[in-house]
Amino acid sequence: MNDGDGQPDLSSRGPWDVVVLGAGPAGAIAARQLAHARRRVLLVEKHPLPRPKVCGGCLGGAALSVLDQVGLAHLPRQCRGVSLLTMRLANRGRVVEFCSGRRIAVSRERFDQALVEEAKSAGVTLFDQTMGELIAASESSVRRVHLVRPGQVMIVEAKAVILATGLGWPPSACNHALAPNSFIGVSAIVEVAMNRAQKKSLFMACSHEGYVGMAAVGEHLLDVAAAISTHALAQAGSTSGLISRIIRDAGFEPPAGLEAANWRGTPPLTRSVRPLVLHRAVLIGDSAGYVEPFTGEGIGWAMQSAVEAAAFVHQQLETWDANVVANWARRYEMAVRRRHRRCRAVTRALRSDAIRSAAMWALDKLPALAAPIVHSLDRPLRPFTTSPLEPQHGR
Ligand SMILES: Cc1cc2nc3c(=O)[nH]c(=O)nc-3n(C[C@H](O)[C@H](O)[C@H](O)COP(=O)(O)OP(=O)(O)OC[C@H]3O[C@@H](n4cnc5c(N)ncnc54)[C@H](O)[C@@H]3O)c2cc1C
Repeated sequence: MNDGDGQPDLSSRGPWDVVVLGAGPAGAIAARQLAHARRRVLLVEKHPLPRPKVCGGCLGGAALSVLDQVGLAHLPRQCRGVSLLTMRLANRGRVVEFCSGRRIAVSRERFDQALVEEAKSAGVTLFDQTMGELIAASESSVRRVHLVRPGQVMIVEAKAVILATGLGWPPSACNHALAPNSFIGVSAIVEVAMNRAQKKSLFMACSHEGYVGMAAVGEHLLDVAAAISTHALAQAGSTSGLISRIIRDAGFEPPAGLEAANWRGTPPLTRSVRPLVLHRAVLIGDSAGYVEPFTGEGIGWAMQSAVEAAAFVHQQLETWDANVVANWARRYEMAVRRRHRRCRAVTRALRSDAIRSAAMWALDKLPALAAPIVHSLDRPLRPFTTSPLEPQHGR
């Protein structure tokens, strides 16, 4: 059943086993996993798809392992992702270069759309341009969600809801704490000519005002993504001005075309959210808490949490045993928060000129120090759901 704009009518095809809010990597993977387990899944996205996303677009070893695990190892190549070979780190004119580990840079617009297409192929129903909001819980066997899109409003019911809404506000039943002085995220795609060596490198420019990552996500397309201080941004007067300054002061040449870049931004990045599980509802990905992205692990965390949550929701759908659920939430927090803590320690240290300079000096003198760090970032989260869903094999 279609309405006037060619979209399926919101009332069509219910009732749902699971409604997933947010069609980023977390939401799309969770929805696909559940559809493969023969659940009736509705995926709701507030923006029209494909949509851009503030991100550096680098899939590290951990993210690539999750794609392997769910049978989507082909996706980065299908999205014309660029395999990176080296990482060039710059601070106060000193540049060090080392092997980047297993890393592919992708356009988030393309990658996220490809994940949504995979979810649809598995049987997921998608409503984009639709805002979803969890309705306050009643201790019943269903959860209700309020859906709004231009010209249409309705309430749908599902046995469970997965919230994968990124850095937006969590439901009112959750406590949401922003870290003081948290940086904000900005990014833009810049058209620029690159030689082969430039295309194969991830550039990271560091300063006390923030850090900027640059990686090729297409033949002539460079993703410039940064976490920056709001204070420095207000003083610089323009995003392009601040980003150019951070890049130049660190020791790189700012790419041509940066001045005219079309920047998108995020709210403050570092936040914690509790609880992660409500009655018949689970938060995953960035909506379950986030730290600044210096280590570039967010997509991997989001996808891994989706795989774990999908298996868990599938097991608990009929019973939703409060004790089992609370225990799962504890294990989830331990696994994800441990990685968050490590990333947060790195980003805190980066704000000190002395620590950044000492770390760069050490990496310059002993480049072999980088290998164990890269290796540990590439390790996937340890699985913590007792009966994972069977992997689905892609093309
Ligand atoms: C500057 C910057 C650089 C980064 N670089 C990297 C990197 O190189 N590598 C890496 O791995 N990670 C990186 N990250 C982190 C990464 O972008 C996120 O961790 C990842 O996108 C999280 O995925 P998600 O699915 O949880 O959320 P998102 O990708 O944010 O998806 C959430 C979706 O939910 C939708 N939504 C929100 N509210 C609603 C609602 N009420 N109803 C319906 N839909 C809704 C949004 O429109 C969005 O599409 C970076 C982040 C920043 C800010």
